[in-house]
Amino acid sequence: MIPATFNYFRPHSIEEALLLLRQGEAAKILAGGQSLIPMMKFRVVEPKTLIDLQGVPELAHVMWAGGHCTVGALTTHASLAADADVRRKAGVLWDAANALGDPQVRNLGTIGGACSHADPSADYPAVMLALDACFIVAGEKTREVAAADFFKGTFETALGESEILTKITFDAAAHSAYVKLEHPASHYALVGVAAVLVMSRDTIEDARIAIGGLADAPFRAGGVERRLRGIKGNDGAAIKAACTGAVTGQDVRSDVEASAAYRTAMADVIAARAVGAATRPR
Ligand SMILES: Cc1cc2nc3c(=O)[nH]c(=O)nc-3n(C[C@H](O)[C@H](O)[C@H](O)COP(=O)(O)OP(=O)(O)OC[C@H]3O[C@@H](n4cnc5c(N)ncnc54)[C@H](O)[C@@H]3O)c2cc1C
Repeated sequence: MIPATFNYFRPHSIEEALLLLRQGEAAKILAGGQSLIPMMKFRVVEPKTLIDLQGVPELAHVMWAGGHCTVGALTTHASLAADADVRRKAGVLWDAANALGDPQVRNLGTIGGACSHADPSADYPAVMLALDACFIVAGEKTREVAAADFFKGTFETALGESEILTKITFDAAAHSAYVKLEHPASHYALVGVAAVLVMSRDTIEDARIAIGGLADAPFRAGGVERRLRGIKGNDGAAIKAACTGAVTGQDVRSDVEASAAYRTAMADVIAARAVGAATRPR
């Protein structure tokens, strides 16, 4: 439970962090440390250089401009969970931040760390997919990566070794919600469903439904999205029917925590709950 030795740097700008990342031996970014430090203690990873982003506080912010939001990578789960604008304008993210882990994890863990870590049971990846978010990545050049291209697999993202996730942007989603069936000890998602709806009066015009916890990476439930169009928001039976078979065609994982059959059955139930919650105003 004691990590291997490493060098520690606390840069004061992104440029300095990028330089250290390029030059440092087996270098890794440290954000909230809620996933990296346990992995180092178990020696699953043994970075020789740690670059702590906490010296770059401008990476922690939530900014709204009209209907568009920018969240800095260093923003903690707790600050998202306490943000009234996030609750009102992007309920799906607010729900996930509030449901994630425990108070210590929420106070220290960051949105950028959680997305870069890409745990298949994490909450934000499905949320980012449903929000159709854009990831701003700093490296030799700054580039933008759509959420659909960012999450590649288990602990695998589109980030290069010498790149840093700096910001995430997305449009407001007034009708949105995240619901998960969580593991009782860790609170990680056995199944997590993020729903973003476009409503016209009380009718669902369009939907983005993303599911996490089931596969190596989150995925959109295209069949559910199609079936939801035209349904009244208060028609629970129709929503339930539309969400049946939510994971059709997906390779659902089985592990010690839940079988594929259980996860598959629960996905339908959780999807219907998430869609129902998204139809209601905050
Ligand atoms: C007890 C416990 C319960 C938890 N429960 C949940 C849960 O219910 N749901 C859930 O989703 N998560 C859960 N987590 C994980 C939590 O969300 C972590 O905060 C998150 O996974 C990592 O964020 P961090 O800021 O701590 O990143 P760190 O641990 O510091 O880093 C994680 C990884 O991301 C890289 N990284 C970090 N920031 C950046 C960046 N800006 N650019 C590039 N790479 C970067 C690091 O190099 C490292 O590889 C739990 C963790 C614990 C310990």
